[in-house]
Amino acid sequence: MSRVPMVAGNWKMNGSLASSCDLLEKIEEQSDSIKGVDIAVFAPYIYLPAVCEKLKSSSIITGAQNLCKYDSGAYTGEVSASMLQDFSVDAVILGHSERRHVFGESSADVAEKVKIAVAAEITPVFCVGEKLEERERGKTEAVILEQMNAVIDLCGVEIFSKVIVAYEPVWAIGTGITATPEQAQEVHAYIRGLIAEQNSSIAADLRLLYGGSVKPDNAKGLFSMNDIDGGLIGGASLKAEDFISICKSAID
Ligand code: PEP
Repeated sequence: MSRVPMVAGNWKMNGSLASSCDLLEKIEEQSDSIKGVDIAVFAPYIYLPAVCEKLKSSSIITGAQNLCKYDSGAYTGEVSASMLQDFSVDAVILGHSERRHVFGESSADVAEKVKIAVAAEITPVFCVGEKLEERERGKTEAVILEQMNAVIDLCGVEIFSKVIVAYEPVWAIGTGITATPEQAQEVHAYIRGLIAEQNSSIAADLRLLYGGSVKPDNAKGLFSMNDIDGGLIGGASLKAEDFISICKSAID
């Protein structure tokens, strides 16, 4: 088993063109010297052409934060996988809790998006995670199972050889409350086990990221757990210094 860790920055709807380019330059300056971890940035759509251009000859992975489940047509405001392909976008975040809970995306919608992304050779970073009240009612595993099964039922378990999963407990996103390494490891092991029930070699290779208030001072503890292969980072990815420090935590 040799899973290359990944640290991915989800910039969400933050910054300007100038601040995004500045952030990228600072990350790029240092990223070349960091070996053994895949570094990715997920930029707002409107800045993707500039980000892709800047990263043309860089090893940093470029990602979008969503895509449309349809390929083209009367879908005002949407962006398709083939449009992302025009800019050689490598990856896409799908099923982020803000998409699920603020914009009402269902597990079925997200599963269709995963399918379309993989068909377009854009790697999905597929997010799953429970809300606080679901955790408190002992429903964490049931919620994750429903979100995972939506993809397995539509696409088959084999699709997980081309998907990265991010476990992001909703109660930890942007709240400053981080899951303990043990809490995160428990859910990561559960997710890997679910895949292993159907295909042990896909499960062994599946990269599982943790997301939810990862900061320079807690990253190492989380990333050192057996089934945690890096992180999806929101707030701390907007500060180059913090983001780079988190990237280094994945390999130290
Ligand atoms: C996220 O939105 O994916 C995230 C993990 O955010 P934060 O790190 O700010 O909690």
